[in-house]
Formats: sequence, C-alpha cells, structure tokens
Amino acid sequence: MDKEYIKKLAENPEFIPGIYNYCDRWCERCAFTSRCMNFALSEEHFDDPQSRDMNNKAFWDKLSEVFQVTLEMVKETAKEQGIDLDSLDFEQEKDEHEATRNLAEDHECARLAKVYSETVKNWFDSAEGLFEKKADDLGLQVRLDLPNSNPAQEANSLKDSVDVIRWYQYFIYVKLVRAITGTLEESSEGLDEIPEDAKGSVKIALISIDRSIAAWGQMRRHFPEREGDILDILVHLDRLRRKTEAAIPDARAFVRPGFDWTAPCD
Ligand code: SF4
Repeated sequence: MDKEYIKKLAENPEFIPGIYNYCDRWCERCAFTSRCMNFALSEEHFDDPQSRDMNNKAFWDKLSEVFQVTLEMVKETAKEQGIDLDSLDFEQEKDEHEATRNLAEDHECARLAKVYSETVKNWFDSAEGLFEKKADDLGLQVRLDLPNSNPAQEANSLKDSVDVIRWYQYFIYVKLVRAITGTLEESSEGLDEIPEDAKGSVKIALISIDRSIAAWGQMRRHFPEREGDILDILVHLDRLRRKTEAAIPDARAFVRPGFDWTAPCD
C-alpha cells in the first residue's frame, strides 16, 4: 500500500465520504461495506488471518505501514497548505490535548459511561455460572423436544444480546470522550457550541446506548434470577442517555452520511 494507491481508491465515486466517522465500526453487521473506503482498505491490507491477529507480528507490521503512509500524506497536505510542520510545538500541543482530554474524561456523561463499561465487566465476571446453567437448560430442552419451546431461537437471542452489549461496552465511553474533547478543543464557547463532528459522535453513542438498553431488556427475560442488577444497569443506561441528550440536545438530528442519508452511486 502507498499513498498513490489510497488517493486512487478515494476517487471511487461509490464510496460515501466520511461514512466511517459516525458508524459503530461493526463491519460484520454493516449494510454499507461496499460503499465504505475504510472497509475496502482494511479488507485489502489486513487480508489474512495473521494480519488481523493483534498477537501476531504481521498485524503490527501492517499497522506500522499504515501509519507510515498516513504520515506521508499528512506531510504532503501540510506542504500543499503552506504549513511548516517543523515550526509546530508538538510537546505543547500534546500537553494541551492531554489537559483537555482529562477535562472530557471528567465530564458527567463520560464518567457515567465509564462506570457502565466497568459494571458490564463485573456483571459478566459474576455470571459465568449463569451461562453454564442456561446452556444446560437449553440442552435439556433440545433433548426433551418440549412443545412450545424453541431452544435454538432462545440461544440465538441470548447470543445476539451478549454480542450487542459487549460490542458497545467501551465504545460509548470512547465516542463521548472524543466528542467532548473535540468540542473543548474546537469551540470557543466550550460545550455551549457543539461542532457538527462532535454531534455525529454523540449520535452514534446514543444509538449504541439505545441498542444496549434493548439488549439488556432481552437479558432480563433470559435471566429473571438477575432481574435486580439488570434493572440497576437499565436505570444507569437510561440516566446516561438522558444526561447525554441534555448535554448535546440536537445530536439525534445529526445526519450521518450513508446511514441517515445515502449518496447516489454514479
Ligand atoms: S461504515 Fe460500515 S463498513 Fe465502514 S467502517 Fe463503519 S461499520 Fe465498517
């Protein structure tokens, strides 16, 4: 891969510009893979199992190559725009960014999202026996072939709920911190004036919260014996959702390219 290849790829009119900025990165479930340049790049560059495995040297070699090409493109763009990268004080920029990020991490929504991700971890750590028991129960239902029971459907529903919860467990926090950090860095009015990009990040965080709430609703049905702590999680997520909507009131109205509006193919 080199920068000329990426530039040529970016000229493909079928790709929706910026679609990957406001998605949930769940490519296996995405209906827009054929219109996403990010997907095309990863499929081509990380095309064998070793290059997708974080524990394999091939993964880090490929990632290093991506960084190298990205750096070359940044330098080229800076030159075109007359920016002298050598004159920038990166140490100061880094310190300022870290200070802003610390502020963002301390925002109420970020703190609630972090508590949520830790709560999910603790819940699953404590539920190992519960899943074993559920597997035994479902196996028994298969063997007994009871009327009015559909163990395969129940197993699929349970797996889907777990997949959804696990996918968004940390994602919500990451997106909220990104949005708040970006706002504090870009807006002179602080959180009173939210840049469009931040609204897009908050929108996908809100969608992730909605889906997580729906998934925990299913978990409540699968594990009535844990209803109490699942209700606590649902209350926490609802609070996070309300606080986020209050902090960035028009985030839901943000139009995400592709998902909320699809550019026509040429
Ligand atoms: S837009 Fe879809 S295919 Fe592209 S990165 Fe996001 S989830 Fe993956």
